[in-house]
Amino acid sequence: YHAKQRGNHYLFFNDSMNEQAVKRLQIENLMRFGLKEDHFVVYYQPKMDIKTGRLVGMEALVRFITPKKGIISPGIFIPIAEETGQIIEIGEVVLDKACKDVKRWIDQGLFDGRVAVNLSAKQFSLPDLTTRIDIILQKNQLPSYFLELEITEGTIMDDPQEAISIMRSLSARGIHLAIDDFGTGYSSLAYLKQFPLNTLKVDKAFVDDMSSERGRNMVDSIVTIAHNLDLHVVAEGVEKAEQLSALEQLNCQTIQGYFYSKPLCAADFTSFLRAQKQRESHSQPKLK
Ligand code: C2E
Ligand code: MG
Ligand code: MG
Ligand code: MG
Repeated sequence: YHAKQRGNHYLFFNDSMNEQAVKRLQIENLMRFGLKEDHFVVYYQPKMDIKTGRLVGMEALVRFITPKKGIISPGIFIPIAEETGQIIEIGEVVLDKACKDVKRWIDQGLFDGRVAVNLSAKQFSLPDLTTRIDIILQKNQLPSYFLELEITEGTIMDDPQEAISIMRSLSARGIHLAIDDFGTGYSSLAYLKQFPLNTLKVDKAFVDDMSSERGRNMVDSIVTIAHNLDLHVVAEGVEKAEQLSALEQLNCQTIQGYFYSKPLCAADFTSFLRAQKQRESHSQPKLK
């Protein structure tokens, strides 16, 4: 309707919109094919205890490896998969593979913590979510104790009352729940204490800001609030030694970031676990 008034401007806008729509459609088709052909792979990023330097867990992160276009970043395909609903199937593939890998690492005596898997808003609001998760855990013979689910503020603030009841049923199974990218979304402190959460993940944006005093005060406040609510704190996207020591001073227990390791494919993560085990058996006398 503004076509005549805006002239070329409208045309330009229209073209770029078309281009975007075409790209989205291409990725949607690639994902449909990729789901059939098993092109979704899970990488793992260690979560380390700041004080002991020990591995305490890991986050499963999906990678979309296409034969023709190479690796497509989650930042590009996840939002599209959210819109098309494909995230439901992708999320289940990730959960299934993560359970399988972790079960193997546990059986090999290489790991006995939790694997954190991201849960999208679409998955979270599935009426049979808990059944779907139970089935995948059972299929892989993995007790729910080994699972943590990461959800964002947006996911739970959409319908907080409903979210509380879904989270309670997950929590009742022994599944841990983490709030991801904390501080970037719109969540109310009043609700934060009502959610059955175990972990709060401080978003990378806050960690990046820690070179200034104001930035450090911000993280200090977040960590204090989390601890007052009995939440375990994980700082995301830690890249530098200075960030690490600043976080240690603020009593943040766990960090995840390139400083320790980028996300690794399952084979490389196995090597990481073996190296960790080696280090531990040298440094610490066995108590049992
Ligand atoms: P997220 O859940 O907050 O995951 C952390 C992201 O930060 C990952 O990006 C990780 O590779 C990146 N990261 C970790 N440490 C550093 C660091 O030191 N420096 C920098 N620059 N980046 C770091 P990734 O793997 O690209 O994933 C991006 C987002 O995509 C995730 O953010 C999550 O929201 C989403 N995602 C990834 N896998 C899944 C999945 O299986 N399901 C769903 N629903 N979402 C997923
Ligand atoms: Mg996450
Ligand atoms: Mg995050
Ligand atoms: Mg994120």
